[in-house]
Amino acid sequence: MRERYLGRKKGAVSQLLARLKEFAPADKPRAGQAVNGLKAFIEASLAAALERRAGDAGGSASAWRDHSLPPSELPVGRLHLIADIQRRIEDIFLQLGYEIAVGPEIELEDYNFTKLNIPEHHPARDEQDTFFLEGHDDRVLRTHTSPMQVRYMLEHKPPLKIISPGKAFRKDDPDATHSPCFHQVEGLLVERGIRFSHLKGTLEAFCRSFFGPDIVLRFRPGYFPFTEPSAEVDISCFMCRSGQGAIQAGDCRVCKGSGWLEILGSGMVHPRVLGNCGIDPEVYSGFAFGLGIERVAMIKYGVPDLRLLYENDLRLLGQFG
Ligand SMILES: [Zn+2]
Repeated sequence: MRERYLGRKKGAVSQLLARLKEFAPADKPRAGQAVNGLKAFIEASLAAALERRAGDAGGSASAWRDHSLPPSELPVGRLHLIADIQRRIEDIFLQLGYEIAVGPEIELEDYNFTKLNIPEHHPARDEQDTFFLEGHDDRVLRTHTSPMQVRYMLEHKPPLKIISPGKAFRKDDPDATHSPCFHQVEGLLVERGIRFSHLKGTLEAFCRSFFGPDIVLRFRPGYFPFTEPSAEVDISCFMCRSGQGAIQAGDCRVCKGSGWLEILGSGMVHPRVLGNCGIDPEVYSGFAFGLGIERVAMIKYGVPDLRLLYENDLRLLGQFG
């Protein structure tokens, strides 16, 4: 800019000064004054601009900066591993046609337990395990994301096809695999003629999409009050490929040599739960499943201690997302 306006030969101001001789003698002083005023204005503006730029760069006006150097790296944020996994799970189920339904973390005891077929005497209701709210005997911090099933069934008519991600709370002492606050993703599908094979196909599609195309699922009989029959779902170890891959299963740190990883709880929605939520179990059937996001983080990304996910150490969190 300085060269363009104030350069000795080609500068615009210099050229104007050279042309002063074209003026009649009577007009020369006024023309000279005008050009000199312009010169002073441009000099002051350039000085001010340099000052501003130095201020932006945090240096002084005289500090030399080499603008041909590559820029210094700016810190860029990224998703926390928990949020990242949750969104990936959401994306897979959105592609399968599910909707995302989010429920409150303070939940009615009725929705958290009773309507889900968890009876009065069930140990899960014990004050040892559940956070009850003082002064609100009928309210708890939800112990799982399953009460969202109840809310959704009460408000909608089948077909229902939702996943419900979010926080859940239990009175666990923090250790490597427990935290009083943790994250789950719940899934629910209710429609005419839904069978166990639909559950298997859905979970297979999900696990292969999330963990890898070669994953094999194993269903073991399980028990949950709100599903019947219920099944625990294991996936074949994606690290040692259950002994088929390069690593010998016995040496595998992910599955500890068993070849299988416990990943999900699932089952057919208990007819009593459907009935509790105003859906006729003679007409409709459905399946439900749930998984813990922290557990997925630990398995898939080898996070050795769940507490690391909450300590917000950027050296750990910066490796993911
Ligand atoms: Zn393994």
